[in-house]
Amino acid sequence: MVRRGSRAIAYIALGSNLNQPYQRLCQALNYIRWHVGEIRGLSDVVVSSPWDGSRQPPYFNLVAEVETLLTPMALLAMLQDIEKEMGRPVARPRWSARPIDLDILLYGEEVILLSALRVPHPGLYWRPFVLVPLLQVAPDLKDPVTGVPLKYFPGNNRDVLRTVVRASSLWTELRRSGQPERLGSSFSSPLFGES
Ligand code: ADP
Ligand code: MG
Repeated sequence: MVRRGSRAIAYIALGSNLNQPYQRLCQALNYIRWHVGEIRGLSDVVVSSPWDGSRQPPYFNLVAEVETLLTPMALLAMLQDIEKEMGRPVARPRWSARPIDLDILLYGEEVILLSALRVPHPGLYWRPFVLVPLLQVAPDLKDPVTGVPLKYFPGNNRDVLRTVVRASSLWTELRRSGQPERLGSSFSSPLFGES
């Protein structure tokens, strides 16, 4: 049973650096459409080197604005189900290469400080591959903790990023792919179409 909250706008960061990253991002967006809610905004896809300087393939990242009925914890559980379905190992070193990484950046104006869930996501203030796409989708967002506009934080630096796919092409791709993807029956029930 999916726990339902009231309607909220969540910003989700998608990242991939394995197994055809661009295709993985599109696949994850299709899962999100089915299991999380309507996608209201998309950023361009940007590419950057791993931020910790490790010798991994480059990362592909984008941010999606999603309207969802899921509570923050239900949203986290759903994103983890999608990561699992897409082959991300459960036990892995933190920040290792991955076919998909799904993080909640913001959930409405909520501030959540649990060990399993921190919102705003702590990396959002200083990671360009997260903050630049987020501001592209919603330029006037403010930090819910301090009220400071997010554009003033150090992560707002495009210099280390390369745009590889425009948001308009991403929308076209999503429309072309038609049916949203559904998780297998062993995962949390879908948001829509429950029997
Ligand atoms: P990162 O996303 O920082 O590269 P991981 O994806 O490996 O690292 O971290 C996953 C852990 O982060 C999960 O156990 C999850 O509970 C926790 N976490 C805390 N806050 C968030 C958030 N806002 N979004 C997603 N995961 C989060
Ligand atoms: Mg993560």
